[in-house]
Amino acid sequence: MVALTTLNGRLPAAALVIADTGPNGPQRLRLDAAASRQRMIRDGCPAGHLRSGYRDLAEQDAEVARANAGLTPSAARPGTSGHGEGIDTDDDPPAREWITAHGASYGMVSGLVPKEPWHHEYFPARDQHAHAMPTPPHVSAKPAPTPTPPVQEDTDMPTLIFSGTYGYALLDGGRLIGLGEQASVDAFQAAGVKRIAVTDADFLRMRTESAPGVLLYNAPDKGGRGWAYLTGGHAIGVGAQSTVDALKSQGCPVLTLDAADFARFTA
Ligand SMILES: [Zn+2]
Repeated sequence: MVALTTLNGRLPAAALVIADTGPNGPQRLRLDAAASRQRMIRDGCPAGHLRSGYRDLAEQDAEVARANAGLTPSAARPGTSGHGEGIDTDDDPPAREWITAHGASYGMVSGLVPKEPWHHEYFPARDQHAHAMPTPPHVSAKPAPTPTPPVQEDTDMPTLIFSGTYGYALLDGGRLIGLGEQASVDAFQAAGVKRIAVTDADFLRMRTESAPGVLLYNAPDKGGRGWAYLTGGHAIGVGAQSTVDALKSQGCPVLTLDAADFARFTA
């Protein structure tokens, strides 16, 4: 069992990416565990058999209910499961057998819950392949309270990247920012942002020198976070309407996002 954190079951969306799909749909894992999953798939682990990855507190509650109903042998209390850290996986065949046989060197440990042969746990320190691919997408931008919009001399736009496993992300200033809402994808496309389909491996490798400027807006009835200016991979909070107007007059595109996706850029 790995060390539990106070964020167990409450991980920020930016710390999670879709790692693989399965019978319950796309499953998210913490970035490092997701990258390990991608390396295993690259090396032969059958994709599409991840039954359960990250579980938030409500989903872990549901798992306890399933255990109480005899549908599964046991379930950890919400807040105490490795699934709540985004690093444990429940795997269906044939991925289960592949990970049991080959997962150890990827940091995926089997057999820690004897009654649950499908349960695997990720230990980053045991991952011998972690150097083999670039760091997965990571959001680290912080909004500045008093923004000074940079002069835009480069009209390059960000690019929408799509892969079958990871879905959509915005490639911006060398960073990939995951997009969880179709409405956000639509907004970027409507603003003329190009969409390109890439392989899952390239999705993680994509890096560019683009330095776009895009105004992000979260409306009062969608969360009320207001305005931010996205450039060079950083979202900078914009407090003054005159700043917004000046950027608009320069032709800066405005994208309306819901609160969750707005938070991915500015949190
Ligand atoms: Zn499990």
